[in-house]
Amino acid sequence: MLRITKKVKGIFGRIKGERGFTLVELLIVLAIIGVLASIAVPSITKAVNSAKEKACQANIMAIEAAAHLYYVDNNTYPAKVEDLKDYFKDSEIPECPFGANYEYKIDSTTGEVTHSHTPQQSQ
Ligand SMILES: [Zn+2]
Repeated sequence: MLRITKKVKGIFGRIKGERGFTLVELLIVLAIIGVLASIAVPSITKAVNSAKEKACQANIMAIEAAAHLYYVDNNTYPAKVEDLKDYFKDSEIPECPFGANYEYKIDSTTGEVTHSHTPQQSQ
């Protein structure tokens, strides 16, 4: 019993004491952090892309809904997405979360919104 207590004290004493960590201990900690990071980074990237994809689909649906409202008011669909400004809060038409280079385009005969960026399929 006395031996175990001494051993436990020894471990905590070493951590709390001024001796610090050995190189091997630091390397083990760094290796564990590296393994965790290599597991976390790809899944975080995947989750971010999946969220952007869903936001883009929601944008398309919102623009199409605005196009239908425009149709009710004007008896025709808008020629371009910019014509729908009045149907969004603060006149801001939603932008593709993947970047401003990807424009939403609208079919003026059906009100269907097409999108120039190919959505990344989330698995
Ligand atoms: Zn998009």
